Amino acid sequence: MSDRYAVFGNPVAHSKSPLIHSIFAQQSGQNMSYEAILAPLDGFAAAVQAFICSGGRGANVTVPFKEEAFRLATRLSERAAQAEAVNTLVLNGTEIAGDNTDGAGLVSDIQGNLGFSMAGKRILLMGAGGAARGVILPILAASPANLTIANRTREKVEALRAHFSGIEASSYAALTGRQFNLVINATSSGLSGDLPPLPAGIFADSALAYDMMYGRETPFMSFAKQQGASVADGLGMLVEQAAEAFFIWRGVRPRTAPVIAQLRG
Ligand code: NDP
Repeated sequence: MSDRYAVFGNPVAHSKSPLIHSIFAQQSGQNMSYEAILAPLDGFAAAVQAFICSGGRGANVTVPFKEEAFRLATRLSERAAQAEAVNTLVLNGTEIAGDNTDGAGLVSDIQGNLGFSMAGKRILLMGAGGAARGVILPILAASPANLTIANRTREKVEALRAHFSGIEASSYAALTGRQFNLVINATSSGLSGDLPPLPAGIFADSALAYDMMYGRETPFMSFAKQQGASVADGLGMLVEQAAEAFFIWRGVRPRTAPVIAQLRG
């Protein structure tokens, strides 16, 4: 019997994780299966328990269950504890170990795949939800000159500033006149076709605009192009966070470049 893995979400049918992990498994000769499981909105913990009883060895967790997975875990990695969100579970008898690979995925994509070093750069992160929270420590570990976080709701960004040392909180209005080498969109504004209220002139020369969303050009990406920045979407991050989860489960680092190319194709 092959080892069972799954992604839990609601909705989950659109998830690319089963495809990504099946390519990783094939590539590295791992005997495993990976499926998408639609958990009821009020039944995430029960769905994970049922999966454990049927032999599940590990899982990814996506919207809207990352915070619930954080609470369900019996043990947490440092990065999951800081993010207060879990996207990767290792299931071993009664132990449910929680990790968060989103930040590692983002940094690998930007620095490794896109060749953009964060060291010494001025970085703006937009958003203060789960995705933003998960990437703060890995970005700080890359030694930027500074990390500024802007969010529509001021209290949420102030809460982040209180939790993480070494970051600056800002409103969008207060960004006027400032310039950044890297601007990361960790808001869900692209889903509703909105552009966060960024001032013109926010991008420094040779700046990179990175949107965590993928699958379509968001208003942020169009704005960044008009402003002369290089633009990237979040597909590489998706594949890289999956590779990090695969490594945690199987001890093997899959090759990500062919998978990103295949998904773009
Ligand atoms: P949350 O719902 O937790 O947070 C949403 C954030 O977006 C909040 O900070 C919210 O601000 C902000 N926001 C929403 N609409 C607007 C708007 N119109 N203008 C300005 N700000 C807005 O979502 P997540 O943090 O979980 O996810 C954010 C995005 O990241 C999603 O699009 C998700 O798909 C993507 N993502 C991609 C990954 C990948 O692998 N590529 C991995 C994880 C996430 P406020 O606080 O004011 O409400």
